[in-house]
Amino acid sequence: MLAYALLGIEIPSGQRSYSVGLAIFNVATLAKVAALLPANQGLIERIVTITGDNIALPGNYLVPIGTPLKFLLDPVGFQGEEANLILGGPMMGMAVRSLDVPTTKATGTVLILDERATKRDDILPCIKCSRCLQACPINLNPSELGLLAAHRQYDVMEEKYQLKDCFECGCCSYVCPSNIPLVQYFRIAKALNRERHLQNG
Ligand code: SF4
Ligand code: SF4
Repeated sequence: MLAYALLGIEIPSGQRSYSVGLAIFNVATLAKVAALLPANQGLIERIVTITGDNIALPGNYLVPIGTPLKFLLDPVGFQGEEANLILGGPMMGMAVRSLDVPTTKATGTVLILDERATKRDDILPCIKCSRCLQACPINLNPSELGLLAAHRQYDVMEEKYQLKDCFECGCCSYVCPSNIPLVQYFRIAKALNRERHLQNG
């Protein structure tokens, strides 16, 4: 998306940015490389944004990597339930089920949602409304991918419907009126395909 927005370059399906001569880094990575490399040091801490509901002191905190969430959340006045914690942003984040989960170098945000936001309505059948197709920024067919996932046709998803191109933005799940957890299906499908490829050598 960045390559296209900034340079008008579309990375072909199944390829990486370097195949079109681009290397894409986020600002935090570049800043850390500039600071740590000359000093011959590794990454031991990072800025983590703690935000959301039921929290007295939201903000950006410098956190040692490996810190369990409970040590992060007690000092900022977290009062909620573990079930309402998301590691990452509202669209791409992953739910966590324990305050013993440690932060990693990839932990940029800890998001706390109240119970209304995390309550999940029943999953209903796909009504072919096409909202997910309109929402997908890279023109995949999340509706068809979701149906294939429900039938565990993970190989077809990859071979015919460009599953590997999905970058798990969560837009399709967000707009789905049937509450189908599409992006979660796609994550599982990708993980199982990776395992299958490893087993097949
Ligand atoms: S999660 Fe994947 S399929 Fe869904 S909108 Fe984002 S890129 Fe498209
Ligand atoms: S948004 Fe949901 S209900 Fe609509 S076509 Fe996509 S999967 Fe089906």
